Parts: sequence; structure tokens; C-alpha cells
Amino acid sequence: MIRAIKGTRDLLPPDTAVWNRVEAVAREVFRTYSYHEIRTPILEETQLFARGVGKETDIVSKEMYTFDDRDGTSVTLRPEATASVIRAYIEHRLDQKPGVQKLYYIGPMFRRERPQKGRYRQFFQIGAEAIGSDSPFIDAEVIEMVVEILTRAGLEGFTLLINSVGDANCRPAYVEKLRSALRSVASRLCEDCQRRVETNPLRVLDCKVPEDQIVIDQLPSILDNLCGVCLPHFETVQAHLRERGIPFEIKSRLVRGLDYYMRTTFEVVHGNLGAQNSVLGGGRYDGLAESLGSSVPAPGIGFSIGEDRLVMTVGQSTGDVPDIFLAPLGETALLHAGGLARDLRRRGVSVEVAANAKLKRAMELANKLGARYALILGDDEIAAGQYSLKNMQSGDQRRVTRDELFSTIGS
Ligand SMILES: [Zn+2]
Ligand SMILES: [Zn+2]
Repeated sequence: MIRAIKGTRDLLPPDTAVWNRVEAVAREVFRTYSYHEIRTPILEETQLFARGVGKETDIVSKEMYTFDDRDGTSVTLRPEATASVIRAYIEHRLDQKPGVQKLYYIGPMFRRERPQKGRYRQFFQIGAEAIGSDSPFIDAEVIEMVVEILTRAGLEGFTLLINSVGDANCRPAYVEKLRSALRSVASRLCEDCQRRVETNPLRVLDCKVPEDQIVIDQLPSILDNLCGVCLPHFETVQAHLRERGIPFEIKSRLVRGLDYYMRTTFEVVHGNLGAQNSVLGGGRYDGLAESLGSSVPAPGIGFSIGEDRLVMTVGQSTGDVPDIFLAPLGETALLHAGGLARDLRRRGVSVEVAANAKLKRAMELANKLGARYALILGDDEIAAGQYSLKNMQSGDQRRVTRDELFSTIGS
């Protein structure tokens, strides 16, 4: 038997109904914030992610699905979408379009991580990017939009964490301060962190190893080291969030290891997800477009929601049930049922037809499918212009004309 590849999975009904609902909620929220959908290829040149995500990251160094195309080009299944969106922004000169470019995406990403609960090698993200403004107003709007999506999707009890990671002006000095503080405590940290002290000290701050936490908590905070531009920017973001009644916590350890991330970073965590409890992460990346070859600055901010984890958290679905189940008795009735089903469907009614079942089996099936109504069509009924309509919940059965049927079901 051939099975799905390790770390991938089939999404089946009734679960797909939850996925569709979450995505419909997201699309509706995006619409009201004037975000428009972008669909980029799943396959990109490998160098896009090497430059846009960073060679030093675990994602690029260990987790990407990379292979040589037949012409020798190294290509990669996208491990995230921001680099692709920015590539498209540059390639299509979206900077020349009026206003801030607000783009959203929904789709699969690929990372060869160790499979665990809620983590898959093909996973889905709902994300957005606002490109072309460095205003703290945009930061607050993006964060508000995220909170709106999660709330309307039915997520309860989540916590919004925010931070500022400074910019090219103030961060290098902080990183040096952090590095020298780390050198004196490095022996008490995990192996990865000992390496990070030299390669990327900021990454120590989001180490998840429990024994490291007490040491990390004592390290200098970026928030005490922000410059005269970054500090008011962060304070303005907070003022906007407060004004809009959005609760948040400041977590100075919330950083991104890549140089082009700057100022606002944010994350939403949820208790039900355990140690790896993040539902989404986001932040400002004002230097990313330039590092991907843009000739014009394109300050941006974005986020991505882990859709697998969000769906897992907002719970189960009973799925969609047929509004009506047609049970024709015989071939002539089946011919008639085909046309009737079409007319009902055109009115938005979901219809299932028992194409080749005896009445008893058909009614059993209607019951198992959870149909709201069953309609029995015999030759006599059709000749008389009347059908037997059964309410599957109450068990009531009555004779209805075609018009009565439409007014009962099709409204
Ligand atoms: Zn560590
Ligand atoms: Zn700064």
C-alpha cells in the first residue's frame, strides 16, 4: 500500500469544513482591511530563500526541499512566503502602484522538520505583507488585523506578545553588548547557544532549552538599548494598540535572527499548543527588499499564521450535511430526480441522490449522512405532481407540490 509521505497528510472531510471556514474568515477580514490576494509559485530558485530567509537559519541550512531542475538550476519548495512576495513586488514593480501594497496569501509551505503534534513537513500558512510604509500606524493595523482573524476564527485565550528589535542604527551596538555578556556565561548554555554567541547572539534569546532560560533572563534587554527613532516608533505602536483596546504583553526576548528584521516583532501564543505554542509570528523587515535586489527601499511588515495549528486549536466540525436526500423509486423516478436535483442546487440547496438504492437502504443512508430532509419519489407521486417529504429530525412526513418543496427547502 502506498501511503502519504512522512510529515505530510491528507485533509479529509469533515475537517476540511473547519479549514474552509478559517480561510473564509481570513479572506473576509483581509477584504475589510483592503488586502488583496497574491499567489506566488510553490517552486522558487533556491537563492531566493538563501538571501531572503538567511543561509544561517535552520530553515535554509537544514530544512528545505531543494533539488536541481533538469537544466541544473537549484530550485526549492517554498519554506515560507515572504521572500516570494517581496520577489514578486520587485519583479512586477509594485512599488509604482498607488499607496501601500497590502497583499495576503494562503497556501502550503514545505520544511523538512521532525514531525510532531501540529507540525508537518507540508504545512499551511495564512499570511499578509504591507509593503511601502514604515509608519507605526501600519504596524498596529497589521497586528489588529491578526487579532481580528484569530478571534473571528474562534480562537480564545491567546496572548499577543510584542517587541522592538531596533534597527541598523542601534541594534549592532546591542548585539555586541549581548555577545560580551554571553561570553561570560556561555559554558552554562546549550551547545547550539554556545555556537550562536559568535554567529548570531540574538538567536540565543529564543532558545527553547529549559536549562538555558535562567541564564537568558539575566541578559541585557534590547528595549534598554533602542535609539531615538526606534523607541518612539515602538511607543507609538503600543499607543495605537491601547487606543484600539488590543491587549498585549511586551516580551523583550522576542527577536528575529535576521539582519533585515527591524523594529516591531510580534507573536501570538496559545496555551493548548504546549512548548512550541506559537500560532503566528510577524514583524517589520525594512531591509528585505534591498537585500533581494530592489533598487528602491520597500519597508514592510508581515505575519504568517500556522493554519494547521490554528485549525487544531479552534476545534472540530461535524462537517456539512445535505439539505435534502432524494430517494427515487425506479428508473423513471431517477430520471425525474436528476432534473429536480439540478433545480434545487441552482437555488443553493445541497442535494444528494440515491442513484441505485432500494428505499430502505436509501433512507438509512439519508440518516447516516445527517440529511435534514428526505424526499421520496415514486412514479405515482411524480404523476400526481406531489412528493413525500420527510423531516429527518422530527420524522414528520407530508405530501408537497414542487412549489411547496422549493419554498420549504430552497429559501
Ligand atoms: Zn540554548
Ligand atoms: Zn534604532
